[in-house]
Amino acid sequence: MKNQKIMLLSVVVFIVFMSCSKGKDDHAAVKGKGDDCSDVHWSHHPGEDGPENWAGLCSGFSDCGGTAQSPIDIKVAEVKADQQLAAPEFSYGSSQVAIVNNGHTVQFNVSGDHSVVLDGKTYRLLQFHYHAASEHTIDGKQYPLEVHFVHKHSDDDFAVLGVFFEEGDEYPLFTNYLDSFPKSEGEHKSSDLIELADLFPANKSYYNYKGSLTTPPCSEVVNWYVLHTPVTASAQQLKRFAEILDNNFRPVLPLNGRTVRSFTE
Ligand SMILES: [Zn+2]
Repeated sequence: MKNQKIMLLSVVVFIVFMSCSKGKDDHAAVKGKGDDCSDVHWSHHPGEDGPENWAGLCSGFSDCGGTAQSPIDIKVAEVKADQQLAAPEFSYGSSQVAIVNNGHTVQFNVSGDHSVVLDGKTYRLLQFHYHAASEHTIDGKQYPLEVHFVHKHSDDDFAVLGVFFEEGDEYPLFTNYLDSFPKSEGEHKSSDLIELADLFPANKSYYNYKGSLTTPPCSEVVNWYVLHTPVTASAQQLKRFAEILDNNFRPVLPLNGRTVRSFTE
């Protein structure tokens, strides 16, 4: 079971957001828990292939029915302040990006080595991608947009940093690239260098809990770090991005006794 899980996870991070509708050859190496789920279609929208039915679509998606799933609603009054937690230590540089619309999200694949130290462990940045509206909610409040920076320490230890967006000043990355975002499946490569650290708010206070990938196979291998402080994008930018992403958020799941801890800087 564990070996199979590790095999799955060694490839899943590269394909987890890729479209179900692509040819079989693209996913020939993907094996789930006994089943190849790579051609199984799933959707963010209610229905037979919607979030409420993901666990039953393929045996490799069974974690989607687990008890430590993401996203969650973070109830601030129940969050535990924890002095043991520390600020993330970023070793981010500049990166060229490939902007991919894979049918489930718009994802920026980065190049080069960029990492963050969290809980004493080094996690390497793989990609970042967007959900509209937000997946996590704060006391029931859903933000218009949430970005996930996906980092890996080992096959069963990922750290995803989530940052909310609220309406305000333009977000520079969108000012420069929103016109280039593929509106349907496709890829836009840019030779520009993006300063990755600029994509975060100045204040790095966060909520932390143990959860899962928010798309199939929903593996419960993620240390979540959801930043308290949103960044801003203009109303026009949020509207255009929401049209492209088409409600690609998973509804919140029960906490099931997990603790949400908070670091405040
Ligand atoms: Zn995500």
